[in-house]
Amino acid sequence: MLTRIDLRGEPVARLGVRTLAGLLPRAELDVEAAVAVVRPVCDDVRGRGAEAVREHTARFDGVDLATTVVPREALADALARLDPAVEAALREAARRARLVHEAQVPAERVTVVADGSSVTERYVPVARAGVYVPGGLVAYPSSVVMNVVPAQAAGVGQIALASPPQAANGGLPHPSVLAACELLGVTEVHAAGGAQAIAMLGYGTGECAAVDTITGPGNVYVAAAKRLLRGVVGTDAEAGPTEVAIVADGGADAEFVAADLVAQAEHDPLAACLLITTDPGLADRVDAELTSQVATARHAGRVKEALTGQSACVLVGGIDAALAVADAWAPEHLEIQAAGAEDLAGRVRNAGAIFVGPYAPVSLGDYLAGSNHVLPTGGTARHSGGLSVLTFLRGIHVVNCTAPALAAVAPHIDALGGAEDLAAHVRAVRVRFPAGVTRGTGRAGEAGEAARAGVAAGAGAAPPLRADLVGRRPYGAPQIDVPVRLNTNENPFPPPVALVRAIAEAAAAQAALLNRYPDRDAVGLRRDLAGYLGRGLKPEQVWAANGSNEIIQQLLQAFGGPGREALGFEPSYSMHPIIARTTSTRWIGRSREAGFGIDADRAVAAIAELRPDLVFLTSPNNPTGTAVPLAVIERICAAAPGMVVVDEAYTEFARDRDATALALLPRYPRLVVVRTMSKAFALAGARVGYLAADRGVVDALQVVRLPYHLSALTQAAARAALARTGELLAAVSAIRAGRDELSGWLRARGLSVADSDANFVLFGTFADRRAVWQGLVDRGVLIREVGPPGWLRVTIGTPREMDAFRTALEEVLRPGDTA
Ligand code: PMP
Repeated sequence: MLTRIDLRGEPVARLGVRTLAGLLPRAELDVEAAVAVVRPVCDDVRGRGAEAVREHTARFDGVDLATTVVPREALADALARLDPAVEAALREAARRARLVHEAQVPAERVTVVADGSSVTERYVPVARAGVYVPGGLVAYPSSVVMNVVPAQAAGVGQIALASPPQAANGGLPHPSVLAACELLGVTEVHAAGGAQAIAMLGYGTGECAAVDTITGPGNVYVAAAKRLLRGVVGTDAEAGPTEVAIVADGGADAEFVAADLVAQAEHDPLAACLLITTDPGLADRVDAELTSQVATARHAGRVKEALTGQSACVLVGGIDAALAVADAWAPEHLEIQAAGAEDLAGRVRNAGAIFVGPYAPVSLGDYLAGSNHVLPTGGTARHSGGLSVLTFLRGIHVVNCTAPALAAVAPHIDALGGAEDLAAHVRAVRVRFPAGVTRGTGRAGEAGEAARAGVAAGAGAAPPLRADLVGRRPYGAPQIDVPVRLNTNENPFPPPVALVRAIAEAAAAQAALLNRYPDRDAVGLRRDLAGYLGRGLKPEQVWAANGSNEIIQQLLQAFGGPGREALGFEPSYSMHPIIARTTSTRWIGRSREAGFGIDADRAVAAIAELRPDLVFLTSPNNPTGTAVPLAVIERICAAAPGMVVVDEAYTEFARDRDATALALLPRYPRLVVVRTMSKAFALAGARVGYLAADRGVVDALQVVRLPYHLSALTQAAARAALARTGELLAAVSAIRAGRDELSGWLRARGLSVADSDANFVLFGTFADRRAVWQGLVDRGVLIREVGPPGWLRVTIGTPREMDAFRTALEEVLRPGDTA
């Protein structure tokens, strides 16, 4: 009877959720089409209130009512007439549901985030909830229980219940629904159904005040009306046709399995039933059972329609594949009738509710389990859970903060308000701490008091920062936690295992000596670096520090400073001007030519005019990747009256490995070549930068360096890496190849690409580069929005990361995006 879908030969775990779900049947519910149908009804109720509800009720339900309000006596009467067995069952169902749902109410939580600063999470119920209970052919008093009990457990003050009037019942809703209301203490019941009932609850009428949240199942028109009113009121999930998936192995009882499939199919001809089994024998036995059970089913017509329609038996190669299929389908109900059912249930990720073992059928959950039977359908279990007390509660954050605690975070608010250009945000905090109030200017006792309160002198007001630094933001690429990070020009390949071990051993040896200061002259490291650079360089010509940034800082401290000037050719590495400023060196930026090169004549003319104390050249340049030819560097060295700093952070990635300014050192004593172990050596975390220059330059730097600036651990790590240069630099050629491949790929897509000799590529140009950058972030790929307007920079990552980048970019780029 069930269509067979045989996935035994398929790599189910690798198919991907969407592909897998696409292979499985499920009825589609076109709620959007129904929205168009119900909109005029809802608008009418919104405009004319009770009168409109009455007219639509007459039209759709064939009942003409004076009022929607069901008299209290009718409720009491219905309960009095209810079959005692049904009454007892409803009472037990409600008792169990109440136990489960009352346990769901979250406790108020107070989180102290810092001294004097806390956030309390308070859960507050909505004031008034509307519950819809469908009438139709079958009336479900159990739905009254499943919606009303969570609302009551949440502490909702007023509950209004609506259910369609029935001509056969004197224009009142189904008696079993009325009886369930009475039993649960719901006193406000309205005889209204369909879209007009939802609109009545949502907008309110003269007879029914508007509610805050509407829950409850219904047909497609009810779902459409709820979708329409979302935003006006809270709603529960949209209910589609019901569904069950049964994961079963060869040990499952075919009769039980078939009975549960039939039970589900009994709800609706559109119900979807999936048997997922590892055993073709069980599939045959269930099919045989179905043939006999369906024939004798009370609702045989719709059962057969459902089972031969959007239902199937899925054959899989193993229990893992069975779970993968179930997760992909994300069923409303999932039964597990297989060995180790409880463990398997623990592995399920997507399901509205899980029914474990042969004696927990969905029928139990529909009525008596205590669990809720209003569950996500149509695959929405991937992102939503069933109805619960949380549907009727709102978590409210209550924020408390003392003056000292606010003062303590004021600098962070300054930074974020500044970054978002929201100066009033910054002021709204700063206005609370006028200078003089928080500063300890008074008696010693006052200052002591302020300090005890956490408002140290100057902590509340802006501290007296140097005027030329006020308003400057700390440097740093935006870090966003995404899977593929190609934004900081790091080496994507971690150090090889052998090196990791060597570093650990070297660090361990140093750890035993950490009571002593390190070698402040880093003699061993400089010897190793000189060896790596070759060209006859001596250790005295080499100097090392914490990253090349610190090298640059020392150079500016020694050769720049107040009254001195540094010249650079932009766009280039943004830390050069930043460090210049922090050392009070005036920065002069001249722009590069089209194509990001430096014209030697123009550079020499600028030097002649400005006579800068330092000239900065970055080659290969960041962020453009372009290299400066040696001939140009030499012309500049010859013309410069002061120091020439060539930042070669990316030199190992250059196509011409010999084009290094090291070659010019013997002829130009004021030339400094700056290098780093951060990039090619994959050691960014170790912070090792270095330079090669004339010995006199290295001697001069000793005046500004801090004593023992380079830790013993850093020196040890760097030396361990230098002992394995060959192995480490092997990854560099892979990165170079990746870069050239990417440049070609980007160009083939009509994009401009700067000629790169580095481990990144600058490409563009985009009318809205921010949108492209954001589009990539949205797809889990972070690159850098840097360089001239319209350009973006991407660091070369691993082949897998580059695939992700290309795929994401292809998705983001639409025709018309390039400028
Ligand atoms: N110079 C250039 C051109 C850079 O791009 C960078 C870092 N991205 C550095 C120097 C600083 O590197 P580190 O401090 O890690 O040695």
